[in-house]
Amino acid sequence: MVHIEDSERIQLTPVPAFSDNYIWVLSKGRRAVVVDPGEAAPIEKLLKEYQLTLDSILITHHHPDHVGGVLQLKQATGATVYGPLGETLPVCDVPLKEGDEIALDAFNLDLTVLDIPGHTAGHIAYFGYIEPNTPAVFCGDTLFAGGCGRLFEGTPAQMVNSLAKLKELPLETLVCCAHEYTLSNLRWALKVEPDNPALHKRWESAQQLRDKGLPTLPSTIGLELETNPFLRPLQETVAQSAQNWAGRPLTSAVAVFASLREWKNNT
Ligand code: ZN
Ligand code: FE
Repeated sequence: MVHIEDSERIQLTPVPAFSDNYIWVLSKGRRAVVVDPGEAAPIEKLLKEYQLTLDSILITHHHPDHVGGVLQLKQATGATVYGPLGETLPVCDVPLKEGDEIALDAFNLDLTVLDIPGHTAGHIAYFGYIEPNTPAVFCGDTLFAGGCGRLFEGTPAQMVNSLAKLKELPLETLVCCAHEYTLSNLRWALKVEPDNPALHKRWESAQQLRDKGLPTLPSTIGLELETNPFLRPLQETVAQSAQNWAGRPLTSAVAVFASLREWKNNT
């Protein structure tokens, strides 16, 4: 299912892991970078099959389904491990925080780090241009296609702030998140916004992809802005639905967001 080409352009590939994780692989020629390898086996198989050298491992946050394979891959390949400064990781060579930049020389790719706490306290994202006109963000479990991560270690206000940073990225930015939760998210989003035509269109195309066993990712920031309720707490239709669900007036973006998050948790 996963196919890597020996190309001089950067190829972006979501490699399925566990039941619904994706490990993003950036490859160019025979070199590779992986993001959030929760397990080593699918990546080791890929490296072997396509004779790739693993240069770097990028980590967004400390959860086991994102770091479970890091130690084994590090030991097998000697790849440089990048990760959030504020979290305890199995191994991290280069701890990163907001504003830090990393240069992946073999890919001619610079990535900028964003602090996006909420799902975990030290969660980070990596943003950069994988081709001159192709920005991409690796955002772990913070922004999902049609949804967002649960608040395990942060507050609604932190998450609203973190999502606001992602919203400011260029509309065409590829959203490379770490789980295939899209259908479940969109099914719920349709309850929030039953009259959003872009959402209905997205639901149909996502279903078609899943019917074929294909990933619904990457998404784009533009598509998320049109269809993801969590990015639009101030939109009247979204706020009204959240108020109806909560059964009380919600007077701020954070209050609407918190209600949406609770609503989704309960579906
Ligand atoms: Zn997580
Ligand atoms: Fe996860």
